[in-house]
Amino acid sequence: MGRIAYVNGRFVRHAEAAVHIEDRGYQLADGVYEVWAVFDGDLADREGHFARLERSLGELRIAMPMSRRALEVVLGETLRRNHVRDGLIYLQISRGVAPRDHAFPTRPVRPAMVVTAKSVDLAAGETRAQAGVKVITTPETRWSRCDIKTVGLLPNVLAKQAAREAGAVEAWFVDELGLVTEGASSNAWIVDAQGVLRTRDTQANILRGVTRNAILALARELELKVDERPFSLAEAKAAREAFITGAGSLVLPVVQIDDAVIGEGRPGPVAKRLRRLYIEEARRSAA
Ligand code: PLP
Repeated sequence: MGRIAYVNGRFVRHAEAAVHIEDRGYQLADGVYEVWAVFDGDLADREGHFARLERSLGELRIAMPMSRRALEVVLGETLRRNHVRDGLIYLQISRGVAPRDHAFPTRPVRPAMVVTAKSVDLAAGETRAQAGVKVITTPETRWSRCDIKTVGLLPNVLAKQAAREAGAVEAWFVDELGLVTEGASSNAWIVDAQGVLRTRDTQANILRGVTRNAILALARELELKVDERPFSLAEAKAAREAFITGAGSLVLPVVQIDDAVIGEGRPGPVAKRLRRLYIEEARRSAA
């Protein structure tokens, strides 16, 4: 007998169950999940998991897709259709389907919801429990691998949304030392008070921006003073210029960081020149 999944209002065959390619859970990890153990067809720690689900959703400002009661009906029905007496039930709720953009959708979207259930062999679990198991250790890297261009973008989503709510276009992450790492979807640059073009080195925990590399090469060709060295937020606020780079933003001058106006409050000459030359070069090589 085939497994059945619940997907956005419908029970479908597990093998054919699918979400939209622009589901924000799929594209941005912008969602939450819960898993309940099931004994005798009933959810174990029912309340604890519901409480955590509601908390997780609240933290991300995602609405419950349906009432608690309706959700319990869906969970129960998924167990029933899969003939699960002892097992696990998985629930995932994402912010919904919307054109890809880090910040939350500007038009309200319905949260997307998926439920699956499977039976578990309790006897096998018992055998394992009697023998005991081995664990290994691993460095705590959750999530300190920003060098990987992963779809695990939830922190970037929240940062970008905060930027939008503050009337800004980008958010710069600042580390525990007060140093700027990078933007939510771009690399961060300044022309410091001494006129040196600076961006954080890629040994650090940032994405190795392709545009960043091209701009570094261009700046060196132009014989600008360049230093791949982290800068503090204070240095950024006191900089002559600031800008961001990325495939989306190209070279985009920054004229304000938080409440601090940068330089003259207008795009600076270095950023403007790099932008023009980068676009000219990109067009030339595309031709
Ligand atoms: N940093 C982050 C976190 C990004 O998401 C991006 C681009 O999306 C960049 C930097 C810039 O990278 P690239 O110049 O390769 O587009």
